[in-house]
Amino acid sequence: KHEKIYTYVGSILIVINPFKFLPIYNPKYVKMYDNHQLGKLEPHIYAVADVAYHAMLQRRKNQCIVISGESGSGKTQSTNFLIHHLTALSQKGFASGVEQIILGAGPVLEAFGNAKTAHNNNSSRFGKFIQVNYQETGTVLGAVKESHMTRMTQIEGQKREIANYHVFYYLLAGASEEERLAFHLKQPEEYHYLNQQDCFTVEGEDLRHDFERLQLAMEMVGFLPKTRRQIFSLLSAILHLGNICYKKKTYRDDSIDICNPEVLPIVSELLEVKEEMLFEALVTRKTVTVGEKLVLPYKLAEAVTVRNSMAKSLYSALFDWIVFRINHALLNSKDLEQNIKTLSIGVLDIFGFEDYENNSFEQFCINFANERLQHYFNQHIFKLEQEEYRTEDISWHNIDYIDNSCCINLISKKPTGLLHLLDEESNFPQATNQTLLDKFKHQHEDNSYIEFPAVMEPAFIIKHYAGKVKYGVKDFREKNTDHMRPDIVALLRSSKNAFISGMIGLDPVAVFRWAVLRAFFRAMVAFREAGKRHIQRKTGRDTASGLSDTMERCKEEKYSKAANTDKLYHRLHEDVVHLYTWGLPWMGERNQNLYASRSLAQLPLIFLMRNKNFKPKPVLPKHLLEVNSLKHLTRLTLQDRITKSLLHLHKKKKPPSISAQFQASLSKLMETLDQAEPYFVKCIRSNAEKLPLRFNDALVLRQLRYTGMLETVRIRQSGYSCKYSFQDFVSHFHVLLPRNIIPSKFNIQDFFRKVNLNSDNYQVGKTMVFLKEQERQHLQDLLHQE
Ligand code: ATP
Ligand code: MG
Repeated sequence: KHEKIYTYVGSILIVINPFKFLPIYNPKYVKMYDNHQLGKLEPHIYAVADVAYHAMLQRRKNQCIVISGESGSGKTQSTNFLIHHLTALSQKGFASGVEQIILGAGPVLEAFGNAKTAHNNNSSRFGKFIQVNYQETGTVLGAVKESHMTRMTQIEGQKREIANYHVFYYLLAGASEEERLAFHLKQPEEYHYLNQQDCFTVEGEDLRHDFERLQLAMEMVGFLPKTRRQIFSLLSAILHLGNICYKKKTYRDDSIDICNPEVLPIVSELLEVKEEMLFEALVTRKTVTVGEKLVLPYKLAEAVTVRNSMAKSLYSALFDWIVFRINHALLNSKDLEQNIKTLSIGVLDIFGFEDYENNSFEQFCINFANERLQHYFNQHIFKLEQEEYRTEDISWHNIDYIDNSCCINLISKKPTGLLHLLDEESNFPQATNQTLLDKFKHQHEDNSYIEFPAVMEPAFIIKHYAGKVKYGVKDFREKNTDHMRPDIVALLRSSKNAFISGMIGLDPVAVFRWAVLRAFFRAMVAFREAGKRHIQRKTGRDTASGLSDTMERCKEEKYSKAANTDKLYHRLHEDVVHLYTWGLPWMGERNQNLYASRSLAQLPLIFLMRNKNFKPKPVLPKHLLEVNSLKHLTRLTLQDRITKSLLHLHKKKKPPSISAQFQASLSKLMETLDQAEPYFVKCIRSNAEKLPLRFNDALVLRQLRYTGMLETVRIRQSGYSCKYSFQDFVSHFHVLLPRNIIPSKFNIQDFFRKVNLNSDNYQVGKTMVFLKEQERQHLQDLLHQE
């Protein structure tokens, strides 16, 4: 009613999504919350950003802000506000390039990674962890945006409740006349991939404008017009590809034909692949057995799967490539050069808990990730906290909370967790949906977190922390092993368009390699120019012939035209060794070590970053140009390192299953979070209809219950939010304490008695001091008076 959407439980921020934009995010608010004490002003998301920022600077420790809540509760919106404030805090008036890129990255990733769903008009289908890096002085150095966890919407769109990624609709609404012609664009309803879903149009929506905004954001992160065009052309190819349909040639045999062959030339034109090859790849499978090449026609259903798989591969590769490019635009090389110690604040925004009428593998993964996040919250708020009280031996009544470890174990514990059983069944040719379900049943008969529907139905029900969800197992196995097919990869690799062929690869390293090649070439130019200038300055002669030679040998096309990966690496290796041995003596000693200890790939990338517009001009800063011999690194060890990093790139392994990748990236994420001090933002959905200022009591209450908010309030009420080791306490409040005081339990208790601290609100343990916020504030105020 009063449009107050924020409140605190201790330092945890609770946000209730108002579905209405409130005027509380303008620069006035940014300023107001700058360097204030939490709780002195009205609760606000900026306050959390600010507290994390100053805690980072004061304590010299990395911080992270973990945002949770179900789909449509406001996580992504909150993330955007946080990032906005975190960059604003450091800018203090002047905006550098990095902040621009950080701010532009959000809209780009949302356009390509978010979609409309029944729960949310801008639902994240991927998880991201944005780490803003600061210098110790507090200015933004750069950021890393990692897309953890695979994208969770199928391009072919099988679920009515989830539309396709925004960018397709933006493109169709906003493309210019010229682009429409060039990309053969039609109306959204005419595309199979876009007309499978309930087409929700949202009031006030202006897709044309969204397209413009996207273009602008892409520009901000450094995508040149040419690149943007390539991206849009690829998106159009994906849409046309989806329209290809199949028919049986005759009633008698299984062989198939394409019923709308007129689409083929369009797709082949946009992808720049040969039409016959495209046709072959879409209707026949090529395999090699015992040295013999076999060409077998696909059955109807198989062909459809292949078509979709090709579309998915293309979109995935594009998304990865975009994330990759943004990341490298965001990485700033200053810290590499000057060896500056950096601090960071990470913000985690994943896909929220989902429950649709039909839930599949994607929902299973999404909900599992949320289960892990809830566990992380419990650990920090309840488990670690109370364990500390116990070891410090202070008087404490235990507070119970709902521990979701059992559900997590059911899903992921080796070797019988559901995801592991799924992996087993995915690799087993005779497996069916039924054998998968039987396996689940057999292994977890007595587990109360899993149930099976009473009526015969290929589904299972999981009791999640946020409620029961029924998953249909149909397609679980296929989706789990959804890899690029070799013949499709071969087709796409044959594309004359280097953007496409470079993006698609036999292994995940391909995306990376593409950028390395390009950047590498630029690095060469930079090296040569810098070296030349330097030698000229020192000796007055123009003798950088060694480098000029290298330049001659390293023509960019040479790499993109290399016949196969082996040859390519071989050439690259030779040239990089050459480059390193020639280039390094021109760098300062410390920088030699630095550069050499980074992997091969990072050398060129450093240049790529320095030179965002890829203009091949000298970009080496002056201090790198000191003549210096290789004192610490012999050429041999240097070559060794380069060889190693190349070998590392070169390893090809069987791709892990989707669920294995998902688990690995979740675990990596959790590790990252564990290395920082967490803040929590809990988002609450106010109503299911996405209506402004509508408050559904039951819906809100349910969310407060399952997120453990009531227990959280209790622990925050009776627990101690401020903790100091004796030493830290003494150094922080030394002004109030007698000079040279020994940091001991007795002395600190004595001090508390002297300043009349309420003895209900503090405890002194074996090695730590515990205070309630109120008492800390009291001491802080005394400190200010001094
Ligand atoms: P998902 O898990 O599906 O990605 P989410 O939690 O990220 O969901 P958001 O996309 O952030 O949800 O929010 C959904 C919508 O709610 C937004 O598009 C916006 O319209 C509205 N909204 C969220 N937070 C706010 C806010 N603080 N003020 C105004 N509107 C908001
Ligand atoms: Mg989101």
